[in-house]
Amino acid sequence: MIKKNTYIQNLENQNKLKEATDFNFKPDIHINGKVLGRDSFVIAGPCSVESREQIVNYSKKLADIGVNALRGGAYKPCTYPIKEKQKFGWQEGLKEKGLDLLAEAREFSGLPIVTEVLDVRDLSLINQYADLIQIGTRNFQNYGLLDEVGKLSKPVLLKRGTWGTIDEILGACERIMFAGNKKVIICLRGVVGMPSYRHVFPSIRWAPDLMMIPALRELTNIPIIYDPSHSTGYANFVAPIAKAAIAAGADGLAIESHPNPSESISDADQAISLETLQGILHSIGHT
Ligand code: PEP
Ligand code: MN
Repeated sequence: MIKKNTYIQNLENQNKLKEATDFNFKPDIHINGKVLGRDSFVIAGPCSVESREQIVNYSKKLADIGVNALRGGAYKPCTYPIKEKQKFGWQEGLKEKGLDLLAEAREFSGLPIVTEVLDVRDLSLINQYADLIQIGTRNFQNYGLLDEVGKLSKPVLLKRGTWGTIDEILGACERIMFAGNKKVIICLRGVVGMPSYRHVFPSIRWAPDLMMIPALRELTNIPIIYDPSHSTGYANFVAPIAKAAIAAGADGLAIESHPNPSESISDADQAISLETLQGILHSIGHT
């Protein structure tokens, strides 16, 4: 650990950052027999919960290859509003029905559930279902929502805003911790800038933010999970960036994987198959 630089030291002196940068603080987040920050931890599942057929059987297959938690959005933030109902009645997620399907999948597979809360009005319902509450990129600095999840006892997966600077990441963690919830996990998921591949790979929207992993390590011992799906936007790039994130020191991964990737209602271009996911787990020595 290097000596903290003056900028961070000043923030600490002003009581703006204390808990998030306190190396004496030991995160104590136990999920499904694993300790975050100590054990390799992999969250996987589809971008969205779509149907019973899609999520329930697949959750068991994910558990069987060693995944530690099941992800799936029931409330989906779509970049453009979706007005029409799609396949299986999906419209920016299945909402409460999606939560019920996640609960069924948990029952069937034994995997804890990671799902996103988009709006503070849905938090108490989502809190009844989720084992790990995801704050998405778009809400990274939604302070009302951060204050509310800070009052809960469930772990929070805080995804980095695509614009977030390192002190803003720490500040958002601090806000949750300051409200009382110390079970914060940072999830890096790619940032704005340099989409210099986009004319050739149109689904790439963000640039991988791998160097933020060692940078955060210099300032905090909050566990760091890397999302190689949103940060690449393209299925063939998920495996190499996943491996790079682990090499850079990430404590685990959050990956989108779908039983039929090309049929995925949302984020189809970055969805990987079970086989590809298994290959990634093998390559990072995940057990
Ligand atoms: C997600 O993980 O389902 C998601 C919407 O990601 P992000 O908030 O990073 O865009
Ligand atoms: Mn997605």
